Amino acid sequence: MKVAVIGGGYTGCMAAFHAHTLGAQVSLYEVESELGGVLRDVVFEGKNFFNACQYLRNQAYDFEDVSFSEHLIQFDHHYGSLTRLGNKHARLVDDCAQPVLDGEAVLSNNPVVNQSAWERLLAYGSRSADLIRWASRFGSLNQLDYRCLVPMQLSRVYFAEDPCLDEKKNKDPLADELLALPRRLRIPESSIETAFLPNKGFNKFFANLKETLINIGVSVNTDTPVKLQRSEDVVSLTSRGERLKFDKVVWTANPIPLLSRIFNVKLTTPSIPMKLIVGEFSTSLPVVPYYWQIFDVDISVTRVYVYELEGRSCFSVEAFAGDSDEKTLMDVKSVFDQLPLPSRYTIFGIEHQRRHVNFSSEELHSIESVSQDFPSLGIIPGAWTQYGREEKVQSINCKISEAIR
Ligand SMILES: Cc1cc2nc3c(=O)[nH]c(=O)nc-3n(C[C@H](O)[C@H](O)[C@H](O)COP(=O)(O)OP(=O)(O)OC[C@H]3O[C@@H](n4cnc5c(N)ncnc54)[C@H](O)[C@@H]3O)c2cc1C
Repeated sequence: MKVAVIGGGYTGCMAAFHAHTLGAQVSLYEVESELGGVLRDVVFEGKNFFNACQYLRNQAYDFEDVSFSEHLIQFDHHYGSLTRLGNKHARLVDDCAQPVLDGEAVLSNNPVVNQSAWERLLAYGSRSADLIRWASRFGSLNQLDYRCLVPMQLSRVYFAEDPCLDEKKNKDPLADELLALPRRLRIPESSIETAFLPNKGFNKFFANLKETLINIGVSVNTDTPVKLQRSEDVVSLTSRGERLKFDKVVWTANPIPLLSRIFNVKLTTPSIPMKLIVGEFSTSLPVVPYYWQIFDVDISVTRVYVYELEGRSCFSVEAFAGDSDEKTLMDVKSVFDQLPLPSRYTIFGIEHQRRHVNFSSEELHSIESVSQDFPSLGIIPGAWTQYGREEKVQSINCKISEAIR
């Protein structure tokens, strides 16, 4: 069977690898000159930095078992959060990436949790206003689906002073869905989940992966934009005017052209303008990577990620765009002062980016409804409604297995 995988980001590469292991004849197409998509490093002054907070987890592949992973280092996945949303003092908590609020959890009566992001946040009663004010910077919350709260790390909230959280969560499934507990309290006995990062950066990891794919017989086509058309029940692919012929197409690239040209579904929810600020600390940090999610309405920083890359102690900070770079850098300093980080550091660069992670409920319903038509057209969709990359890979690979079997 001939399989075309469109998009050479992480999910496309994993899909190509998986389809090959199932015996398909696979061709991978990527519009850019290199594989990697959003995982590609940012490079300033010849130095690589991770493009935001990015880890690999081995839910989709046992990395110890596959040849392309020889440059991956394995470590315990640590994280925390810093919250100043109407709290008396900023709360810095380990093992919890969600907001941490003062006081006890008092949820509204009969909360609506599976509709808009706005409605779900109203479930937190008198504390909703603070959460809504912070989250509104991600877009219009009454138009966004509640699932958009996942990339914001707002799908649950931790009330640190509530002595009965466990009991509330155990008694009521809705409270369980809305209330967070730090990992060490939730699963005290369990070992910390393992994660992986490439020791020489993602660009080298993808160069290695490209070589592996070529060596096993996958045709890897970079600088190759793919377009599609539908005529009746036949979908055809072209690249630079040339027709590409395949039995199955795995579309992991941007879904907008596929959904609009083939299914007449328009995705119009705006992307989120963000900034990425990267740099190095003057003093060495412990080598285990760590990230803090930041919740503070007066500060544009949303996430601080520290890690070692090629012997350098690096950071990648994510912030809302909109402020001047001067104000953003003051926010970075203010957040660094509150975290256990060295005070001396050098900023290497600021990059403006856009995040395509938001959907309205209508868009999600449209994608779900047309997804029934994908198989009959020979298309395997790229699990765009999932945020986590491992969940995406698992979902796509499962559909590939069904299609090839
Ligand atoms: C800044 C950021 C941080 C994130 N952090 C996390 C995280 O911590 N954890 C997590 O699980 N998820 C995270 N995500 C989501 C995560 O990126 C995705 O789940 C996943 O990694 C995206 O990989 P992908 O291959 O699906 O898409 P992409 O990386 O976007 O790859 C798509 C590829 O398709 C190519 N392409 C587009 N159009 C065409 C065309 N017409 N023809 C050929 N090629 C085409 C593009 O050039 C690109 O290389 C983050 C996303 C962003 C943007």
